[in-house]
Amino acid sequence: MNSSSTPAWFTQGLGHIWLPYAQMKTMAAPLPVVRTYGSRLVLADGRELVDGVASWWTACHGYNPPHIAHALRQQLDTMPHVMFGGLAHEPAFELARRLTGLLGPGLDRVFYSDSGSVAVEVAMKMAVQYWLNQGEHGRSRFLVFRGGYHGDTLGTMAVCDPEEGMHSLYKGLLAEHDCCDLPRDELSLDRLDGFLAQNSHRLAGILVEPLVQGAGGMLLHEPEVLRRLRTLADQYGLPLIFDEIFTGFGRTGSMFAFEQAGVRPDIITLSKALTGGTLPLAATVASSHIFDAFWSDDPTHALMHGPTFMANAMACTAAMASLDLFEVEPRLEQVAAVSRALATGLAPCKEFDWVRDVRVLGAIGVVELDQLADKERLRQRFVDAGVWVRPFGTTVYLTPALNINDEDLNTLIKAVIAVLRAGRP
Ligand SMILES: *Cc1c(COP(=O)(O)O)cnc(C)c1O
Repeated sequence: MNSSSTPAWFTQGLGHIWLPYAQMKTMAAPLPVVRTYGSRLVLADGRELVDGVASWWTACHGYNPPHIAHALRQQLDTMPHVMFGGLAHEPAFELARRLTGLLGPGLDRVFYSDSGSVAVEVAMKMAVQYWLNQGEHGRSRFLVFRGGYHGDTLGTMAVCDPEEGMHSLYKGLLAEHDCCDLPRDELSLDRLDGFLAQNSHRLAGILVEPLVQGAGGMLLHEPEVLRRLRTLADQYGLPLIFDEIFTGFGRTGSMFAFEQAGVRPDIITLSKALTGGTLPLAATVASSHIFDAFWSDDPTHALMHGPTFMANAMACTAAMASLDLFEVEPRLEQVAAVSRALATGLAPCKEFDWVRDVRVLGAIGVVELDQLADKERLRQRFVDAGVWVRPFGTTVYLTPALNINDEDLNTLIKAVIAVLRAGRP
């Protein structure tokens, strides 16, 4: 970017901003974006990048879907927000009805919050109090899995993979949970069963990202793993929580990942693509079995949680408009097409010596490298190639808008191949 095109707000504000996951001193400067449309980011200097990340997986319909914008404008004039303690409004109630309808029988009660991490913490509080309300004490730990990621707050950092670099600094602050290998085969299944036989009495529940562990490295597992977890959860009477914050809303090829396994969780968390990439909103949806443990004449059996912006009317409106788009547009067929294009398009990467694995599920394409020394440099090379791709760990991944057009998808795939062909990154 040449300095004449650097906007004043950028230069003046940069000294007052604290950016995510960044060493502010040595990082490459963030790219000023002035406009978005479709799968494109328009930069201040006029360049356009094809977005391969869909803004951390939120922009499932691409940017600025007119239907969502229209709904938001109307809601803005009517009622942007009212508190949810003691007051009710149509967008929150209608969205709860529609979400539970989509999720199907057994997931009946929606608790809203404003970020994925909080939705997971709410799920954890539900599971812990589910036991307390039934008079059972001493169950405060969760069974979680290697490679898992569930958020950045203190409660959720503790249920992430403890070996992952992101959170190890805060170890002393974190609650202790039990992290095991996913039951991918008979051996790990036996080990997990053995662990549960010894320890299930201390556990409040089991927490897992179904089919794909996202931020932990885009690691895939078979639907059979989820069936095994469902069986174990039933056997040991433990609530099973699926964190579908990344996988929900079509990303893995079905509306929700759990559909592919044919098993249902007792609690599910949703966020990221929930509002079609427009506003922050999250939902923790519980089965009536869980909810029933809170249904009581005893006030201390109530769930004590209530974010200030809970069920924000604008965000709920955006989420409903996003669900409209899933209903009227062939989104899942588009995901299937994106999936085929990613599988054929990324396959040539397997030829490079520095590529360890290429894997695709739904609209997720992952190239795993043997090492990734200089992420910043690699990101810059992607920008130079006209795409926004943000490698992390040892992976380069594409998670574009579910309805990305062929031309933009091709640009993304070609950029990945060209950048990786140039040599070990
Ligand atoms: C992103 C993510 C979260 C955290 O959501 P935030 O909105 O960033 O707090 C939790 N779980 C999964 C699976 C995620 O992908």
